Amino acid sequence: MIINFLDLKAINDRYEPELSLAIKRVLDSGWYLLGTEVKAFEQEYARYIGTKHCIGVANGLDALRLILRAYIELGIMDEGDEIIVPDNTYIASILAITENHLNPVLIEPDISTYNINPFKIEEKINKRTKGIMIVHLYGRNAMHPEIQRLVDKYHLKLIEDNAQAQGCFYGNRRTGSLGNATGHSFYPGKNLGAIGDAGAVTTNDDALADIVRTIANYGSKVKYHNQYKGLNSRLDEIQAAILRVKLQYLDSDNQRRREIAQYYLENIKNPALKLPILNSKASIKYDKSHVWHLFVIRCDNRTALSEYLSNNSIQTSIHYPVIPSEQQCYKDELKSDSDLSAILSREYLSLPISPILKDLEIAEIVKTLQSWENAR
Ligand SMILES: *Cc1c(COP(=O)(O)O)cnc(C)c1O
Repeated sequence: MIINFLDLKAINDRYEPELSLAIKRVLDSGWYLLGTEVKAFEQEYARYIGTKHCIGVANGLDALRLILRAYIELGIMDEGDEIIVPDNTYIASILAITENHLNPVLIEPDISTYNINPFKIEEKINKRTKGIMIVHLYGRNAMHPEIQRLVDKYHLKLIEDNAQAQGCFYGNRRTGSLGNATGHSFYPGKNLGAIGDAGAVTTNDDALADIVRTIANYGSKVKYHNQYKGLNSRLDEIQAAILRVKLQYLDSDNQRRREIAQYYLENIKNPALKLPILNSKASIKYDKSHVWHLFVIRCDNRTALSEYLSNNSIQTSIHYPVIPSEQQCYKDELKSDSDLSAILSREYLSLPISPILKDLEIAEIVKTLQSWENAR
């Protein structure tokens, strides 16, 4: 028996025949772009997240870059302006900023959450600072009262990267509805995953929604008349139809992820492993501020551990082995806030966590981790 890190086929097989029917519905309609499925998904997802607007786009990176581009078109941001962003994130958050000729200002993480450290932000704010992009990394809410205070005090735009946290809450609001605009990704491996690339922007801002929608469709509102130098970034009907099916199961899937996380946290006792830090291990099942997109542990001897697990038929992954500021494409351009993110990136190891994992499998993973001796 091999325990896969992520078995997408098994995840989607649970929704047969609903998914096949959804695909057939689109095929039979003869209408493949900007039709009724996209419109219905946009309404359903906006209601789910709790925003006035949802605009389906081609992927999560486009969602983020379209938000920033729209702020530039609206005259709210300008080339060379600064966007505060965590240095411990997937590269897409940073690419969306530099693509628009804005400058990412990197902030180190809080070591107990791996999310942006809210108390390291204010010292980086200056006249050119126009926004803060928070990333709910690994599915954990990154919003914090201090961030709201800074956004209000300095009149900044708050942008959320919600690619890893569909369904997560901050208090009684869903992530994706907390700031001015949010980018969502429905990449197949995300908590809400399509069967190809897909993404969305959510916002309560009418003007922003209108421009995002227009730019994503060649910069055109009236066919063959172009207001903006736009791009082609549309959500297609098949992906929207798939997402409409899977959205109905997102909350129960996230609940299963929480159960697995609780089991890991209560039962992994190997002192060589550093587990995610939470207020109370007993209440993880009820804690809606985390949707456990990934279950990331840390270990000084990561390579040996991952090989040991692999030899015992357990697949793992690393999120992420190289932080954005150390990537070849950014090395000469970006500087991290501190060494913390780089150090952490050498210790991270992601254990399997997905709604289809069986009790027997998570028990096997825990047992194997318990028996690992940190030989160095
Ligand atoms: C997946 C991801 C994205 C990008 O989404 P795509 O749909 O792959 O373009 C952006 N930010 C984060 C944090 C992600 O994990």
